[in-house]
Amino acid sequence: MRKQIVAGNWKMNNDLAQTESLITALKNQAKTTDAEVMIAPTSTNLWAANNALKQSSIEVIAQNMHFAENGAYTGEVSASMLKSIGVNTVILGHSERREYFNETDELLAKKVDAALAKGMRVIFCFGEELADRKAGNEETIVGNQIKNALFHLGAAAFQNIVLAYEPVWAIGTGETASPEQAQDMHAFIRKTLADKYGNDIAETVSILYGGSVKPANAEEIFSKPDVDGGLIGGASLKAEDFFAIVNAF
Ligand code: PEP
Repeated sequence: MRKQIVAGNWKMNNDLAQTESLITALKNQAKTTDAEVMIAPTSTNLWAANNALKQSSIEVIAQNMHFAENGAYTGEVSASMLKSIGVNTVILGHSERREYFNETDELLAKKVDAALAKGMRVIFCFGEELADRKAGNEETIVGNQIKNALFHLGAAAFQNIVLAYEPVWAIGTGETASPEQAQDMHAFIRKTLADKYGNDIAETVSILYGGSVKPANAEEIFSKPDVDGGLIGGASLKAEDFFAIVNAF
């Protein structure tokens, strides 16, 4: 069975005190599902968050990393640095990184390689913009994002890859893909994987949906057969809302 995952992307929110208090609130929530739970605080708070959650089943993950091992890359952090503080999973390719930091598929391929080489798990994000969907090009865009950044990998690499379909028009906008739109795209993504790597691999890769998931819509989205969980932005900043989504499975 594929892993069900709910990951909270805190983005550039929460200083140290706020991180500690949100973690305390998260620890007070009861998990009633088997879903794996992850939170991605800012890089300055990964260490504190990881220490605070040592005895918990919530995994602390990073929002980004550089592809180089070390060197003259001011402001960046490497896979080794993340590993050295016990962070073993990283989000790569988030649309905000693509849009505001000009991250291309080619750059992301290098980041994916660097993370996998260090034994990290990658949550790889992609998704079309509104204009692409209006033009009916969403599958072409998504297919190319996956192929360009991931299809140089061998099949075994997919043991450490989680995919996250995040239509850009649904991120932080309050507008969500309908459960049917999410299912259609997830099925297309799984077929794209199956065409390249075979059904057995495609069936094992978890595909998360991201884009204005809330307690009110999580259950219906998660009920779709190819939706294996969610990458949650805004709603992950409130412990009760986040766990309502975790418990929606
Ligand atoms: C995200 O940033 O990955 C995201 C899905 O954000 P939101 O849930 O706020 O749309």
